[in-house]
Amino acid sequence: MNFSERVLRVQPSQTLVITAKAAELRKRGIDIISFGAGEPDFDTPDFVKEAAIKALKEGKTRYTPAAGIPELREGIAKRLKDKNGITYSPSEVIVTPGAKMALYEVFSVILNPGDEVLVPAPYWVSYTEQIKLCDGVPVIVPLSEENGFVLTAEILEKYITPKTKGLVLNTPSNPTGAVIPKSELIKIAELCLEKNILIISDECYEEFCYDEDHVSIASISKEVRDITFTINAFSKSYSMTGWRLGWVAAPEEYIKKITIIQSQTISNPTSFAMYGALAALEDGGKFPAMMKEEFKKRRDFVVDQFLSIEGITCPKPQGAFYVFPNVTAYINGDIKNDIELTTYLLEDAKVAVVPGSAFGKEGYIRLSYATSMDNIMEGMKRIKDSLLKLK
Ligand code: PMP
Ligand code: GLU
Repeated sequence: MNFSERVLRVQPSQTLVITAKAAELRKRGIDIISFGAGEPDFDTPDFVKEAAIKALKEGKTRYTPAAGIPELREGIAKRLKDKNGITYSPSEVIVTPGAKMALYEVFSVILNPGDEVLVPAPYWVSYTEQIKLCDGVPVIVPLSEENGFVLTAEILEKYITPKTKGLVLNTPSNPTGAVIPKSELIKIAELCLEKNILIISDECYEEFCYDEDHVSIASISKEVRDITFTINAFSKSYSMTGWRLGWVAAPEEYIKKITIIQSQTISNPTSFAMYGALAALEDGGKFPAMMKEEFKKRRDFVVDQFLSIEGITCPKPQGAFYVFPNVTAYINGDIKNDIELTTYLLEDAKVAVVPGSAFGKEGYIRLSYATSMDNIMEGMKRIKDSLLKLK
């Protein structure tokens, strides 16, 4: 083998590894309940599917412009104005194959070797690896359970160096569900403006804010908008994870460079899928609102269940569809860390969860509650029983 140094720097996505492992066990006839990869358990709405089928039938099956079909860029710009209160022209929006690729493309166009990017931890698994793939250096900003895992400007400031080029913001957060309040976003934005730091704002879970409305950092002012990449996707909001459609909104010069990357790599996002996304935009948020109601009930149930287990603490997530309980009370004896605890839970309880260390925080586990209430009830019972055996 003769690999590049770059590929040797990165790890596979642990959320996907664990989910594949659970699927494999299930295929072998083992009754596994998966709280692994986070994706809504709802099917893509019919009106979205029908729009894509119509596009297929009408022959919309050819290459499109590299940045996506103009109608969708316009629709996303309109949504960003109406819902998020940020003014972008369609030329400041690019359609991407999911938020994951959107993030990778942003890192590709801004990072030079050695540039540092601040990544608050616990973080979603792909940020650090993508930054490394783009020759950058992820600088971890540790957050604590005591503060509800909420990033503040005061914490951030300590990690800024002359090499800091960017900050990854993810509110609501995967894996903690923490939401950064507007008052704090304003302080973070001021700090980034003062220190010349670009903001990469991953807003994939904006539709799932349970207590307060989502605030996009780019909506704070024109100056902040001009240093921000606003990233989002149809994946979670419209239960379209397999469709691979997301977007980046940013000043036009950045979008032009990202378009070059797309034109030389993917050519364009999938033609007929984009027509489905257009229909999703026309729904005006009714479908995600329905999911949110359901997720909220599940969140309340899961948090209560964890709090009823001796020794476990579990901050109540304000958004997204994950819980991130502290399981250090069960890491002792034969079980030396959270990875071993997740292996134990898989083998003993037949439940798949992701270890906190995959998100840069040992001693925790992450569960996605985007699965049926029946699964949640049965899975929580199994987790409880297996943990109590360790006492
Ligand atoms: N950002 C976060 C925080 C995520 O949890 C995910 C996982 N889906 C993504 C980005 C990637 O989203 P997509 O499936 O649209 O690529
Ligand atoms: N974002 C989801 C998760 O965190 C899907 C898996 C992935 O893309 O890594 O579980």
